[in-house]
Amino acid sequence: MGRIQVLSKEVINQIAAGEVVERPASVVKELVENALDAGATAVQITVKDSGRHIRIADNGCGMDGEDLKLAFCNHATSKISSAHDLFGVTTLGFRGEALASLASIAKVACISRPRASELGLKAVPDTQGQVTLSEAGCDYGTIFDIHDLFYNVPARLKFLKGARTELSHIQELVQQLAISHPAVRFELQLEQGRGFKTGGSGDLKQTIMDLYGVDRPEHLVEVRFEDEATGYSLTGFTTTPDVYRSSRKWVQWFVNGRATQSSILAKALQAAYEGLMTPGKFPVCALFLKLPLAEVDVNVHPTKKEVRFSQPNTVYSFVRAGLLETLMKTGQRVVVPVVPPLPSLSRLAEPAIPETSLHEPRQIRSAPHVTSAHVSRPPLPGLAAGPAPYQMPYPVSNQVVQQLYDPLEVAPSGHDQTQLLQSPDFRVIGQLAKTYILLETPNGLEVVDQHIAAERMHFERLMGLYEHRHLEGQRLLIPVSRPASPTLCTMLEDNQALLAGLGLEITVDVEAQKVTVVQVPSLFRTHQVAAMLDELLVKLEETGDVQLPITDMVATMACHSSVRAGDVLNMEQMQRIVVQWKASQRPWTCPHGRPVSRLLSHQDIMAFFDRPSLPVS
Ligand code: ADP
Ligand code: MG
Repeated sequence: MGRIQVLSKEVINQIAAGEVVERPASVVKELVENALDAGATAVQITVKDSGRHIRIADNGCGMDGEDLKLAFCNHATSKISSAHDLFGVTTLGFRGEALASLASIAKVACISRPRASELGLKAVPDTQGQVTLSEAGCDYGTIFDIHDLFYNVPARLKFLKGARTELSHIQELVQQLAISHPAVRFELQLEQGRGFKTGGSGDLKQTIMDLYGVDRPEHLVEVRFEDEATGYSLTGFTTTPDVYRSSRKWVQWFVNGRATQSSILAKALQAAYEGLMTPGKFPVCALFLKLPLAEVDVNVHPTKKEVRFSQPNTVYSFVRAGLLETLMKTGQRVVVPVVPPLPSLSRLAEPAIPETSLHEPRQIRSAPHVTSAHVSRPPLPGLAAGPAPYQMPYPVSNQVVQQLYDPLEVAPSGHDQTQLLQSPDFRVIGQLAKTYILLETPNGLEVVDQHIAAERMHFERLMGLYEHRHLEGQRLLIPVSRPASPTLCTMLEDNQALLAGLGLEITVDVEAQKVTVVQVPSLFRTHQVAAMLDELLVKLEETGDVQLPITDMVATMACHSSVRAGDVLNMEQMQRIVVQWKASQRPWTCPHGRPVSRLLSHQDIMAFFDRPSLPVS
């Protein structure tokens, strides 16, 4: 007798079940997706017995006797009929495997009634998918009752985690489904009194706030980004960078309506928040990416948790750009009146250099020893060569920041900037511990870290000036020297043009293995030169790259251009710092991601003092 046999239907279904039904949450997923595919506007889910008993009721299209007989057969589906349809799948299910698999590993009963039928039917499949039908009185829609999940698969049963874990998986899953279907009313009842209900009003923002515990509407910003040429769109909500969690759990992606995970999307999100959020922190978001169906392969994994993109690079750039644009828009929180430029700084108000000239070599006046070979070597490092690590989407668009003189400087006589500095959005009330600026704002008390705020402001200002060739240098009365390795010397020599662009001049003595800073940007606090040079050299040594990392260098310069913790500031200086910081493109964090300010809201303060309201002014 030969050794090879064709497997029985039951075994085949159990094998399929092993892939489709991993745990109780997978049952919920398959059945709720079926309900949604059936056009339900209300879905009620009840879970008992640590997830081994699941009941799902919907008000969808229902099934008649014929459908019910076929529903539990393997590869029986109403959603596709040809291989061609696979590339245009818009329903959540299409494999026709779920019900057949389920019937092979649990005791299943289904009661269903299409709207047009008078009477409902109860279907009880056996382990091979053979259905017994009987009449049943019921409302229209469908109810699935699953008992004793994995009763005949002890191996699976053994691998189930504790009830709490299984119930958490179910809760997370139903949350995803509820967020991707805000117009459907969901009711989840778990054991131990856990669960939730959604209103089904169609309001996505409210649904996210309810389910993901975001307390204030202003913490969520709407993402709306489209590209007609590719047919891509990105919509949804994400939190402002000052609202974050320590886990990715509240980052939810949907691709063409399906909850999914993808490393490409995770990277794009991370890139958009880079420098705005401390590494290891994540926003709370629900983001919906729509792509032409043919560009997404959802068929990679039986439970369809992961997608594959045919154009991963385009997807990455699109998503990153969409999120960046959204975050930039919300960054401009303070509207500061624009006044005519100050004469001493009027060159900053020159029309912006047209895009194309960014790539052209420029005259570098402040670096006389730089040879023409250096100067004429296009493209300008850090701008056109390779992907710039930090891109100012609207360089120097923020004229106000450019027009204000340094926050610590005394106003040039005759130039009253009072108007510029008056802001209806806040009032400085003082300094705390020589480190924090305290602000009264319409929302409460804002505590601002003076160094980080100044650093963010200087970073953007330097970056903007660098990109527009306006970074000028001041020569140092006493140059500062440091020993440097031959590699470092060569690196600095090769990058003289770039350094000059930053307003820096560092002379290199290769033989003596020494570098000397002779000129720094005009904005720079000269007593910080030695500290800046030390930090810069360490960074460059670490990078070991031929091309100097512009963002890092500018961040280092910004840090050393800024007031420090411990500097006593007067009211006007604090006012200047805050106005300029608030007018930055990305005011939430320092260039490395540390948060700048913390709001103690009126609500929190009132709750603490048990006060019902604030006096009306
Ligand atoms: P798939 O969803 O991949 O088509 P399933 O095995 O999950 O396969 O379901 C088989 C078929 O049963 C579906 O194609 C659908 O026609 C029908 N069906 C399942 N659940 C429901 C429901 N809640 N309401 C109406 N029809 C349903
Ligand atoms: Mg299905």
